[in-house]
Amino acid sequence: MKAYIDLDNTLVNTVDSWIEFINSKENINLTLEDIHTYPWLSMKFKDENGKGIYDHYWESGDEYCIYDGKIKPHTGSQEFIDELKSMFGKENVHIVTMALDGIERFKNKFIKHYFKIDPENIHYYHNKYDVTKKLGSGILLDDYQKHTRSFVTNGSPSILFTNNGKYKWDIDQTKELENKYSELFYVVDNYEQALWRMHCIKNKYNEAG
Ligand SMILES: [Mg+2]
Repeated sequence: MKAYIDLDNTLVNTVDSWIEFINSKENINLTLEDIHTYPWLSMKFKDENGKGIYDHYWESGDEYCIYDGKIKPHTGSQEFIDELKSMFGKENVHIVTMALDGIERFKNKFIKHYFKIDPENIHYYHNKYDVTKKLGSGILLDDYQKHTRSFVTNGSPSILFTNNGKYKWDIDQTKELENKYSELFYVVDNYEQALWRMHCIKNKYNEAG
């Protein structure tokens, strides 16, 4: 069984950098508390061509330093990945993340630097379930319910990461998943809980053969 782990906001603090970028471009004072749905930043702030300001963030590359200084791993995330490598085997720990064209090389370098994961275990796709389907069954850990939803609706386990309750986006949809998919969907606040939950799911999976 494999461990599929999201990068942005699950292992590293990307959202504060997004907010800082939007605040500086729009001359406003957003905080994390203002974000109630995940796509809100990209939908709400558009440039004169109707393109999301948020997209400019990714294109700004060196200035916002995608992964070159501003974005740092969450406390404990590197140790968490080490624990997963012991639990699942190094070859079974994959990062599944999204990237606009041209950003992959920054992310690859960043992931290798902080998490010692090679490019063959890093995957860039919009539908996370589709890519993992080709790689083999596993558990997704992600902070965005849309991705956890794509797993559970296909009968695969997934875990939503709240970063100690800091991420409060899409709460209604999270509750719906909890009610509807109680055997496959879980919410965790920290890495310790994530490890325990992944351990339980893996054991259950092994017992089922
Ligand atoms: Mg994420």
